[in-house]
Amino acid sequence: MIDSRYEMVIGLEVHVQMQTRSKIFCGCSTQFGQGANTQICPVCSGFPGVLPVLNQEAVQMAIKTGIAIHGQVRPVSEFSRKNYFYPDLPAGYQITQFELPIVEHGHLDLHTESRGAKRIGITRIHMEVDAGKSLHEGIVGGSWVDLNRTGTPLMEIVSEPDMRSSAEAGEYLKKLRAIVRYLGVSDGNMEQGSFRCDANVSVRLKGAEKFGTRCELKNMNSIRNVMRAIEYEAERHIDVIESGGHIVQQTRLWDANANLSRPMRGKEEAHDYRYFPEPDLPPLHLTEERIETIASSMPELPETKKERFIEEYALSDYDAEVLTNSLELADYFEAVARTVAEKGQADPKAAANWVTVELLGVLNKEGLEITQSPVPAAHLGKLIYLIQNNTISGKIAKQVFATLFETGKDPEIIVSEKGLKQVTDSSAIEEEVEKVLAANAKEVELYRGGKTKLIGFFVGQVMKATRGKANPGLVNSILRQKLG
Ligand SMILES: [Zn+2]
Repeated sequence: MIDSRYEMVIGLEVHVQMQTRSKIFCGCSTQFGQGANTQICPVCSGFPGVLPVLNQEAVQMAIKTGIAIHGQVRPVSEFSRKNYFYPDLPAGYQITQFELPIVEHGHLDLHTESRGAKRIGITRIHMEVDAGKSLHEGIVGGSWVDLNRTGTPLMEIVSEPDMRSSAEAGEYLKKLRAIVRYLGVSDGNMEQGSFRCDANVSVRLKGAEKFGTRCELKNMNSIRNVMRAIEYEAERHIDVIESGGHIVQQTRLWDANANLSRPMRGKEEAHDYRYFPEPDLPPLHLTEERIETIASSMPELPETKKERFIEEYALSDYDAEVLTNSLELADYFEAVARTVAEKGQADPKAAANWVTVELLGVLNKEGLEITQSPVPAAHLGKLIYLIQNNTISGKIAKQVFATLFETGKDPEIIVSEKGLKQVTDSSAIEEEVEKVLAANAKEVELYRGGKTKLIGFFVGQVMKATRGKANPGLVNSILRQKLG
């Protein structure tokens, strides 16, 4: 927790690698994990005299993302050269949309638990090319360079400095990642670098209007790390200010192992990039018609899906939020709810509970994604139906679920193999009740003397004797009848 007199000011820059089949200015493949320098040509290797041709698939993806974040897609955008020397940038410049980006003035709405809805501005989305990769590991006396990634299309999504806590930053990133995944624009994988985030962090006394000096944080490969880095950095700033020092604007690298940030380069070393218009690429003109065609072909996005879930399934805001965080999870939930509705009574709330609490609980513990779930949606739906039709109690269902998670078997088979079917035969239950009452004469006396709270004890004993299989409602009513 940071000193409560201060507040954080956070802006995020996210680099999203677009999942196009070929690179942004040439026909080379973008497939991940191929042998070094097997996917290169004179264009992406930076040979002089070659001509880049803009990949329209990348343009479509940037437009889709722009519409999804409620941004304005510019009718004309332009490319520039950003000049700097880097060993994995053979051309000596990066092609990027500097002055006129493809998208401007967007926003994302966050739903914070504590403060309700909050709108975060998105300044711009611009397209640019990725650089290659220097290889140092296992190479003595030099470095190698792999240019397979050079020319891969990136979108840089730049937010306004509107976030005030690491939790907001985390939520913003989750939302943005969900959007690019829903759109099929990127796999959003932070560990593999297809969704990279830089954070600009500063602090100021609450109520102050002027921003403090900011530092840029890099090298964070998970949302959790972004949040930790922001908290560390804000605390560092406050410590410096409180001890009479001042913050130096700089770029810092996050070291997740040491749990701290270190300076990378100072402002005095900042490059003068000497941007100038890319002479080989004409301005990109987009007709209103093209933008409208793309808008009308967009899939249902997280926000809309969430609203629909609340409306159609009467789910809580929270459940709808969790379930629409990923398209796969949302689809899974709908398949469970559908199975329950087809077999018995529609009960989307039960379906939501089983998915968010039980299933996600174990998946998180095992470090698995919903796509890796060993439980088919239809089986989870069937399990809920077995509770509905009194074949098993809710308690036994948890036991069945554990086996279902382990084996993926049909829950009906699990119930019959393990003999877990609920006892609804009242004479069989009566028999157990008689035994329990006979064995606990003292408690029976106390109950009859007015200590009616003991009913819970008797129910527990009967359930124990039947290994949880007795129908709890029946047990309760038979007990009351015998005791009364
Ligand atoms: Zn190429």
